Amino acid sequence: MDLKITVLGSGTSSGVPTIGCTCEVCRSTDPRDTRLRPSILIRHPDHNIVIDTTPDFRAQVLRAGIRRLDAIVYTHGHADHILGLDDVRPFNYHQGGRIPIYASRATFAIIERVFAYVFDNRERKTHVPQLDVNLIEDAPFDVLGLRFEPIPLTHGKDTIFGFRFGNVAYLTDHSEIPESSLDRLKGLDVLFLDALRRRPHPTHSTVEASIEIARRVQPARTYFTHMCHDLGHAATEASLPPGIFLAYDGLEIDVAS
Ligand SMILES: [Zn+2]
Ligand SMILES: [Zn+2]
Ligand SMILES: [Zn+2]
Repeated sequence: MDLKITVLGSGTSSGVPTIGCTCEVCRSTDPRDTRLRPSILIRHPDHNIVIDTTPDFRAQVLRAGIRRLDAIVYTHGHADHILGLDDVRPFNYHQGGRIPIYASRATFAIIERVFAYVFDNRERKTHVPQLDVNLIEDAPFDVLGLRFEPIPLTHGKDTIFGFRFGNVAYLTDHSEIPESSLDRLKGLDVLFLDALRRRPHPTHSTVEASIEIARRVQPARTYFTHMCHDLGHAATEASLPPGIFLAYDGLEIDVAS
C-alpha cells in the first residue's frame, strides 16, 4: 500500500527561528531554515494519521491543508510533541466522531495530566477534544489498516517509542538506539533520525552519530529531523554522505510498498 509522508515540522523543541536569536540560521531567508516543532503526516491512501501534536499543530494543519484527521500516534509526552492536542476540536466538529489516539501508558499519563479537562468526563457547555484512547506497548498495532511497530529509543533517561510503518521508520528524540531496535530496521526505504546539532547533547543525537546509525541501518534514504538553529539547511546538507538529507517543513515523500 502506498504512503505519502509530509513533514509538518523538522525543528527542535524551541523551533527555528528561535525566539530572541539573531544567528545566521534564525535570520535565513531559505524557507528550509524555518522549522516548526517535530511531526509528520502519513496519508495512507484515504486516512490521515499524524505522529505527535506539537505546539505548532494548528499552523501545521492549515499550512499542509489537512481537512480530516483520522488518528494520532504519540512518540512520548514531552511538550514539543503533545501541546497542540486541544486544536483537534475542529476536526471533531467537522467530521463528527471521536479521534483515536495511540500512546504508551507513560505517555498517556502525561497527556492526561496536562490535558486533565479533556479526560475528566465533566458535563460542560463548551467543547473539549473527543478522543478514543488506545494504550500501546512494545508490540505491533494496527491504525486504520496500517501496521505500526514501536521501536524503543533511549531519550536521555527515558525510553520512548519511534515507529516503523511499512518500509518507513520515524525515529525522533533519541540519544541512543538500542541494538535490539536497530535489528528491527532492516530493509527500510525511508529512515527519519534525530540530528539536533553537531555538539553532543544529553538527550538527542548529533549529525555525526546519526550518520553512523544510517551507515549501519542502510536504508535507501535517510532524513534528519528535530534540528536546532546550529544547522543551516544548505551548508549542512552539502556536507552529508550520499543518501542522507535534511528534512524540511513541507517536504513530501512518496513511499511505494
Ligand atoms: Zn522533541
Ligand atoms: Zn539562532
Ligand atoms: Zn523529547
